[in-house]
Order: sequence, then structure tokens, then C-alpha cells
Amino acid sequence: MQKIPLGTSGMFVSKVCLGTMTFGDQNNESEAFRLLDYAVERGINFIDTAEIYPVMPQAVTHGLSETIIGNWLKKRGNRDSIVLATKIAGPSRLIPWIRNGKSDLDEHNIRLAVENSLKRLKTEYIDLYQLHWPSRNVPFFGKVIFNPKDERPSVPIEETLGALGKLIEEGKIRHIGISNESAWGLMEFIKIAEMKGLPKIVSIQNAYNLTDRHFEIGMDEICFRENVGLIAYSPLAFGQLTGKYIDNPKIRGRLTLFSADWNAHYRRPAVLEATRQYMQLAREYNMTPAQLALAWCYSRWFIDATIIGATKLDHLKENIDAISISLNDEIVDRINAIHALITNPAL
Ligand code: NAP
Repeated sequence: MQKIPLGTSGMFVSKVCLGTMTFGDQNNESEAFRLLDYAVERGINFIDTAEIYPVMPQAVTHGLSETIIGNWLKKRGNRDSIVLATKIAGPSRLIPWIRNGKSDLDEHNIRLAVENSLKRLKTEYIDLYQLHWPSRNVPFFGKVIFNPKDERPSVPIEETLGALGKLIEEGKIRHIGISNESAWGLMEFIKIAEMKGLPKIVSIQNAYNLTDRHFEIGMDEICFRENVGLIAYSPLAFGQLTGKYIDNPKIRGRLTLFSADWNAHYRRPAVLEATRQYMQLAREYNMTPAQLALAWCYSRWFIDATIIGATKLDHLKENIDAISISLNDEIVDRINAIHALITNPAL
């Protein structure tokens, strides 16, 4: 598995990152251990989690994903060979169990969040500490339209960076990243760090897949010019791009298990139509639809690492195997032709 330097961090991460948001809900600890072991066996050294995981977030399962990873790191004794990424929750009314519903990206919350993540992860340091979503009003999680009417007070980016800088000096975190950010936020984090001598973000973790390519509208250029790595999440559009819900709409999986409100953007008729067309294309080239969707992400020049998720070992194998598939110009043209007709249907 190829390892590449993540942004300006100097850390070498596998192009495939293992996502863990199912650990503690859809996957119990022993299943999670098997998925982690297999990922490492295949050369993955990059693991992504978050304080709010597993998803769907609930008070009773809060922190379980980090706890399971911590147990696994301790049992395997392999902390030094893993690049461990986690995230602090931004403000939200939907997670009252996290710091009494007062989570935000200020110094008090960041320090508490880091201390708790370190305990659960049973480690002395976090390699990549990410802000899960911004403090300010920004559209994300399937929304793209900015609405000035939703403006609210937020923590200044300078304060957030200052707090993170102190934790870097203390050795509790090594590098920082943002997530679910807009082009303005991405540039602002970079500009303020430069102007104020604060730490520079090394990565941005945003959604990117065949049904949502909006990162290609300007954000890719910023990442290129500013040397920030894109860590792409939801490469299979929550599993929709595997085609399994088209073959069997009632199949047990994330899109049928969890609230339709939460995953509505990946259930739209236009997403289903695009998926049908990508499925047909995959078949013509003897790939599974999942492999076509993942090979697309793995081969985009602006993606440093793609975070894959799998609840089953055979799915994980299929997803990792896609790293060796190369898409020729003809397939790329056909993918772009579908995209031109059904552009970003998940938005
Ligand atoms: P995804 O690739 O879009 O969806 C993964 C899900 O699709 C799996 O959990 C599985 O769900 C299904 N699946 C995967 N491979 C399959 C296969 N070969 N055949 C059939 N079904 C398959 O990725 P994601 O889970 O949304 O995101 C990956 C990771 O990114 C997460 O674990 C998390 O670390 C990160 N993430 C970050 C954010 C953020 O806000 N920063 C948001 C989302 C995700 P079922 O088995 O339930 O069908």
C-alpha cells in the first residue's frame, strides 16, 4: 500500500484510511478488531475516528469507537506504527451528552475533548486532531447553500488555533486538520495561522464521491497551492454507490437502518439514477460498482487519502482491493459524461 506525505505534516499515511464510525454500534469490539487487523495486514496505517462516534450518535454509545481503537492499540502494542486521527465535535443541539451540549471550538472545550479522547484511545498523543465541523454558520452534511439568516455567534478561528497550538506544544496532539469546511474557512485557517504565527492545518476532511464532487469547484486548487491534504470521506455515498440498495431496496445497511432524515441526500431520485448509470459502467469494465467508485477516489490527484468504511470483512477486502484498479482514459471520460448529465445529485 502506497504511503504519501499528508500535507506539510511530514507524516506518511496510506492512501486508504480506515474509517471507524461503525465501531460500537453496527460493529462490536471483536468485529472491529478483525477489521482493524485486516486493514493493517493490507498495509493501512491511517485510522480515523471522532469523539462523537459511533454513528448514529447516542449518549449510551458515545466514545465507543475511540475506546475500541484504544483497546486494540493496547492489545496489539502497535501505537507507533499507526497514524491516529480523531476529531472534536463542533456546536450542535443534537449531542447534549457531550460537555452538556456546550461543545464548541474554544480553548475550554478543546482541552477537555483532547483529554477525554486521549484517555479513551489509551495513548499519549493524537497524530492528527481535526475540528469535526466549524463553529460558525456553514452548510455541510449534505447542504451547500449558505444562508446569512443562520448567522450566530461563533468562536474566532484565531482562538481555536491558539488553543490547538498550546496542545501541540504540550505534545498531546501533533498536527491539526479541519473538516466539513468551506473554501472561505479553508483559506481563513491558513491566512490566520500565517499572520499570527499559529499552527497551520495539514488537512481537510470533506465529503467526496461520484454523487458529490463539489470539492472540485475551487477547493482542490486551494489544497494544491497551499499544500493541504484532502482526506475524502463517504466515498461510497453511505453505501449507495455499491448498488446494493438498487438491487434490493430493503437490504440491511446504513441507509435502511438509520433515520431517513439523516441520510436523505444519498437517497434522492437523482442519486439513484446516477448510481444506476455508474453500476452499468462498472459492469461493462468487469468491476463491482463499489470498486469503480473507490478507484475513482483513489486516483484523484487532489485526494491524499480516502477514508473507507466497512461493516463486513468481505466488503473491506473488496474496498482495499480497488486500490490496484487503474481507470483508463475511456472510463474516466464515461464517468465524466455521467457527471455532466447528473451533476452532484447528492447536493
Ligand atoms: P462510505 O464508503 O460512503 O460508506 C461506508 C458504508 O457503506 C459501510 O459502513 C457499509 O455500510 C457500506 N459498504 C462499504 N463497503 C461496501 C461494500 N463493498 N459493499 C456493500 N456495502 C459496503 O463511507 P462512510 O462510512 O460514510 O465514511 C467513511 C469514514 O469517513 C467514516 O468511518 C468516518 O471515519 C469518516 N467520516 C467523516 C465524516 C465527517 O463529518 N468528517 C462524515 C462521514 C464519515 P453498511 O454495511 O451499513 O451498508
